[in-house]
Amino acid sequence: PPLLQVRDLRVNIGERTVLHSVSLDVQPGQLVVLMGANGSGKSTLGMALAGHPHYQVQGGQALLAGQDLLALPAHERARSGLFLSFQSPPDVPGVKNNLFIRTALNAQHEARGQEPLDAFDFLSSAKKAAKDLGLPEAMLGRPVNEGFSGGERKRNELLQLSLLKPRLALLDEIDSGMDVDGVRAVVALVQKLRAEGTAFIVISHYLQMIESLEPDAVLRLHQGCIAETGDLELAREIARTGFARAPQAVEA
Ligand code: ADP
Ligand code: MG
Ligand code: MG
Repeated sequence: PPLLQVRDLRVNIGERTVLHSVSLDVQPGQLVVLMGANGSGKSTLGMALAGHPHYQVQGGQALLAGQDLLALPAHERARSGLFLSFQSPPDVPGVKNNLFIRTALNAQHEARGQEPLDAFDFLSSAKKAAKDLGLPEAMLGRPVNEGFSGGERKRNELLQLSLLKPRLALLDEIDSGMDVDGVRAVVALVQKLRAEGTAFIVISHYLQMIESLEPDAVLRLHQGCIAETGDLELAREIARTGFARAPQAVEA
C-alpha cells in the first residue's frame, strides 16, 4: 500500500477553493517532485496535509500509512512521521532551537513507545548534524529562526529534517534562498534519508537540483489539480518551455 494516499482533496483558503481535486500516491521510499506555476496551490497542499488551521479541507481523503491524517491535529500528524519544511520558515520567539527539536523528537519517540532521548546524546547528535549542514553550533542555542537569514532558515529546516528522520518529508522550495553549498547539503541529506526509508515530496523550480534528486515521479499542479504526471523528462520539458505550454488541467 502507498505510504501517502491523497484522494480528491479539496481545500479552501477563506471563501476561495485553492485545491479543487488533488489525488496522488507516494510509495514508501519514493521521491515525488511537485512542480507548478506560482499560485497553483503547491504550498497549500503541504499546509493542508500538515494541518495548518488556515487551510480548510472541504472534501477528500489523506491517509499516511493507512491512518486518516485529516482527522488528526497538526502536532499528531508530525508525531506520526509527517514533516513539512516551510517555504517561509517562521520565527518561534523565546523557544530555543535545540529544545524545539528535542521536544519534537521526544514526541516522536513517545508515539513509537520508545524511551525519551538522553539530553546529552541529543545535543551531541544535534551538534554533529549542525556541523554537517554548515550551521554554526551557536544556532542551536538561539530562538528558532530569530534573526536568521533566509538561507540560514532553510538550513535550519534541514537540521530539523536530519534529526527527526520522518517517514514522509515535504520540502517546500527548500532550495530557494540557499547558496550552492546549501543546495548540495539538501541533495546529500535527501539521499541519506531516502536510503534509510524516508519518502519525499519535493516542491522546486530548480531543474539542476531536481535532476540530482533522481525522482521517481514528477507531477505538475495547475490551478489546484494535478494536470500532468511524468518523470524527469516532464521537469526538463517544463524548464525548457515553461508552464504556459502545458495542457490545461484535466478533471480528476
Ligand atoms: P504556490 O505554492 O503554488 O505558489 P500557494 O499554495 O501558496 O501557491 O497559493 C495558492 C493560491 O492561494 C494563490 O493564488 C494564493 O494567492 C492563494 N492564497 C494563499 N494563501 C492565501 C491567503 N492566506 N489568503 C488568500 N489567498 C491565499
Ligand atoms: Mg510560490
Ligand atoms: Mg508555494
